Amino acid sequence: MKKKTPEEANTAAPIRRRAKEVALTFDDGPDQYWTPRLLDILAHYQIKATFFCVGQMVKYFPKMLERIASEGHVIGNHSWDHPDYTKISLTAAAAQIKRTSEQIESVVGLWPRLVRPPYGAVNEAVIWTIGAAGNEIILWDVDSWDWKGLSGPQVARNILGHVSSGSVVLQHCAGGTKDTLKGTVDALPYVIEVLSEQNYTFATISEMFHLSAYR
Ligand SMILES: [Zn+2]
Repeated sequence: MKKKTPEEANTAAPIRRRAKEVALTFDDGPDQYWTPRLLDILAHYQIKATFFCVGQMVKYFPKMLERIASEGHVIGNHSWDHPDYTKISLTAAAAQIKRTSEQIESVVGLWPRLVRPPYGAVNEAVIWTIGAAGNEIILWDVDSWDWKGLSGPQVARNILGHVSSGSVVLQHCAGGTKDTLKGTVDALPYVIEVLSEQNYTFATISEMFHLSAYR
């Protein structure tokens, strides 16, 4: 057998790529219509995501929260009924977070530490209040704008056009304008396949930032 020149040997060697990570996050659920569809897709691709849940929705759909937890996804706190924390008192904001964590704990026995304020709205006092309760604030850098009733291709373009390694992608698993998240569901398999082809792996928020998700 002919001996390989250094160049040839190099070409044949496996290319070492740096791991690229992306975290998919789904807000405003759980519900009983969109959430199960998204869970089915994530299960099909064996991908774990992070669900920032609304306490009131957890109260209505506890079985769906159980499913989210049992399928290995991370659960975060997204307020009791979605107020802007910068427009209510700090006491009220703290109560929103506590009540939601209590509700989540009553269903799945986990007290979430990862908190996403509705609309990503924070100020210094809100940041301090959330942190003082032992929580971590988790925002996002890639907005799918999926809640606006966009089509699958539009949602996919909003994600794929802006994602990079370490990105946190905001999507929704309940609600939406005219109550539709069809674009989210239509886009998800395509987004997962394209990112996988680009050598991305999918991490939960606690994996990506090395944070414990629960108290
Ligand atoms: Zn929200």
